[in-house]
Amino acid sequence: MRIVMKFGGTSVADAERIGHVAGIVRAAAGKHQVLTVVSAMDGITEQLLEVADAAASGNDLRTGELLTAIRDRHLACAYALGAHEHVRPLLEGLEAVVHGVLALEELTPRSTDAIAAFGERLSCAMLAHVLGATPMDGRQAGIVTDDHFTEADPLMDLSMFQVQEVLGPMMDKGQPVVVTGFVAANQHGVTSTLGRGGSDYTATILGSALKADEIWIYSDVDGLMTADPRVVPEARLLGALGFAEAVEMGKFGAKSMHPRALEPAAAYGVPVRMRSTFKPDHPGTLISSAPAPTATVVRAVPMLKGLAMLTVGGAAMVGRPGSASEVFASLARERINIHMICQSVSESGISLVVSQAQADRAKAALERTLRQHGLARTIDVRPGVCVVAPVGAAMKGTPGVAARIFTCIAGLGINVIAIAQGSSELSISIVVEGQSGPRAVAAIHKEFGLQGDQPQANV
Ligand code: ASP
Ligand code: MG
Repeated sequence: MRIVMKFGGTSVADAERIGHVAGIVRAAAGKHQVLTVVSAMDGITEQLLEVADAAASGNDLRTGELLTAIRDRHLACAYALGAHEHVRPLLEGLEAVVHGVLALEELTPRSTDAIAAFGERLSCAMLAHVLGATPMDGRQAGIVTDDHFTEADPLMDLSMFQVQEVLGPMMDKGQPVVVTGFVAANQHGVTSTLGRGGSDYTATILGSALKADEIWIYSDVDGLMTADPRVVPEARLLGALGFAEAVEMGKFGAKSMHPRALEPAAAYGVPVRMRSTFKPDHPGTLISSAPAPTATVVRAVPMLKGLAMLTVGGAAMVGRPGSASEVFASLARERINIHMICQSVSESGISLVVSQAQADRAKAALERTLRQHGLARTIDVRPGVCVVAPVGAAMKGTPGVAARIFTCIAGLGINVIAIAQGSSELSISIVVEGQSGPRAVAAIHKEFGLQGDQPQANV
C-alpha cells in the first residue's frame, strides 16, 4: 500500500519520542511505500508566535528568553539524536528573522509565517536525520497557496500536480522523505502556513495528490471516541466513521483536526486513519467514504463547553432584510467566532452561541452596531452554557431520533435552552446549562447503546 503518515507535536516532543516515531516509520516502510509528515515539537508553534509578538513590541528581554528556550530545547534534542549540524543553521536563521522584526518593531502576517514555519522545519530536520531520509518543506514538496498568510488556502489543482511531479517518483523508488506539515509557499515562493493545526491538512493534501491508499494521522489518543471518556467512562473507540460524520465530530471532538483537513481526502476518496503512537498495532479509527453500516443511529455524542449564548431581540428586526447580516457582521469585525445560530420563524430574536471568553466583547460589539442601526431592543447574555451534539449519518431520514434524544434529556429534568439542526440532519445541537451537559451526554450515549461493541477497522 501507499501510505502517508503524519505525526503531531506530542509524538515528536523530545528525542526519545522522535526515536520512537522513527521506529514506527521504519516498520511501516518495511511493508508499504510511505511518506512522512511531521508537526513542530509540542508547544513550539505557540512559542514561535509569542516570540514574534514579543519582538514586534520591542520587548527584547522576552524575545531573548523565548529564543533561548527554543534553541535549548532543540539543541538538547538534536545532540541526543546526532542531528545538531542540521539544526544549528535553522536556529540561526530563526534568530536572524526574529532580530529583524525586533529591529523594525513591525510584524506582518508574512513574517509571522516565516517565523512559525521554523517549528516544522526543525522537527523535520531531526526526524529525517534519524531516518536517513530527505527533509523537505511543504514548498519544496509542491504545495502552493494563496497570499492569505497565517491561514493560507492551497491552490489545489496546482499543488496536486506539483506534488505528484516531485514526490511521486521518490515514492515509486522507495526513497524515504520527511515533509514539514503546516508549511507551504505562495506562487512567488514566499513561505506561508496553512493555519493552526495545519499539518493534518498537509498530510491529506499530499495523500490525495499521491493517490495514497490511506492517510494515517498519529497522535497520543487511540482514535475518535463515542464521547469524551472523562464525561462518559463507558465511551468506546469508534472503529469506522464516514467523512461527513467525522467532519461534524471534528468541531466538537477531544482531538481537534484542522477544520479543512478532511476536505481533500473526502474529495479524492482517500481514507484517513486516526491512530496512536503509543499503540502502533492498534487499528484506530478509519474515516472513509463508505464505512460499514452500524446498528446505532447516533454514533457519538460530543460536547462543546465553556460557551455563552447571546440573544438579540427586538420587533424592528421582523421582516427587515439585512438585520441578520448586521448582527453577524458586527461579530465578524471583532473576529468573534460563532459556534451556533438559531432564529425562530417569528424573526423577533436571533440567538448566537460564542465562547464564554469572547462573550463580553461580543455583547459590546452587538450593542454598538445594533443600537446605531436601531435594530435591537435587548441583548441578553446567558453565560455558562454548553452544546451537546449527537452525531450520526443514519440520523438523516430516520424519524423519531430527535424525540428519543429529547425524551431522555427531559427524563433527567434538564431544560433545553436552544436547538439547531441543519438540513444535513447529521447532528442536532442542543444548548443546555453547563453543569447539565455531562449528564445529558451520558444519558444520550446510553439511550443509543453506544457503550456496546463498535465494528473494528481492519488495517
Ligand atoms: N505546528 C502547527 C500548530 O501547532 C501545525 C500542527 O501542529 O499541525 O498549529
Ligand atoms: Mg501543534
